[in-house]
Amino acid sequence: MTDPQFNRIALIGIGLIGSSIARDVKELGLANDVVISSRSAETLKRAEGLQLGTHYVSSAAEAVKDADLVIVSVPVGSSGAVAEQIAPNLKPGAILTDVGSTKASVIAQMAPFVPDGVHFIPGHPLAGTEKSGPDAGFAGLFRDRWCIFTPLPDTDAEALEKLKAFWIALGSRVDDMDPQHHDKVLAIVSHLPHIIAYNIVGTADDLETVTESEVIKYSASGFRDFTRLAASDPTMWRDICLHNKDAILEMLARFSEDLAYLQRAIRWGEGDKLFELFTRTRDVRRSIIQAGQDVDAPDFGRHALDPKK
Ligand code: NAP
Repeated sequence: MTDPQFNRIALIGIGLIGSSIARDVKELGLANDVVISSRSAETLKRAEGLQLGTHYVSSAAEAVKDADLVIVSVPVGSSGAVAEQIAPNLKPGAILTDVGSTKASVIAQMAPFVPDGVHFIPGHPLAGTEKSGPDAGFAGLFRDRWCIFTPLPDTDAEALEKLKAFWIALGSRVDDMDPQHHDKVLAIVSHLPHIIAYNIVGTADDLETVTESEVIKYSASGFRDFTRLAASDPTMWRDICLHNKDAILEMLARFSEDLAYLQRAIRWGEGDKLFELFTRTRDVRRSIIQAGQDVDAPDFGRHALDPKK
């Protein structure tokens, strides 16, 4: 236990990310009060059942009253509507942040509603699983994972440091980025892999020459790893695609060109080109392990990352 960093934290949205934050805050004693709000009565009730906070309120606007730190953890397409609801009740001097997977769009949606005197600091923890909802969260999700902040030009340095100290207490490594740059980087490291996974699983599901039972039966030969990504929350990923459109389309164009190169190499039996690429990509995996962002286990370290599995 450490000393509380904030008197009152409001968590708007209590799914995988919000509930993981709540669990860490409780375990580490980072706040005296944790007020939780969720859109549906069902999720809010579940959060209460799991004892994730100290207060549970159905209205997001009510939840942020007197909060020193407000964390919005909802699908990115809903950020603007949430900001509009909570804005009138935000306390002067409070820090308002989010965890959305896209940043330029979230800023465009939320910033217009943020009252003077409230420190709006957009953020994105690069941690998660394919699960959603309050039961999916777990303490330690953010440990050794990056949390990227995309401060606005007038962001107060002290507020930024305070927010970073909070994420560091959760075990994160912190970094700053320009929002557009964030969206490009995430398009390649996260959004494109998910889109490719959704596509390949969709293609396999549509195939008439291979029966559905064969797809499932022989899935361990590579397909299985794609199905994990393709099982991610449809609302979240619909919103990411719609709200990082330009960067995703740019990366998809590049991806299609490279795929055509690979296709040609296979067609013309150019084994040296294939071998060169496959050697280069194996080095990328080694670098990720060396950087501590995965473990060198045959299951891609999933068991090590999510203690529930
Ligand atoms: P989640 O488990 O599906 O939880 C979503 C939360 O947002 C729930 O409390 C849900 O409320 C609420 N919500 C859904 N639609 C809403 C709407 N239209 N208006 C207001 N609230 C709404 O999602 P999550 O995985 O925690 O993701 C939350 C955010 O974190 C997203 O912006 C996502 O991009 C970002 N993120 C996710 C991951 C990941 O791996 N999952 C990683 C990093 C960042 P009800 O259940 O009450 O409807």
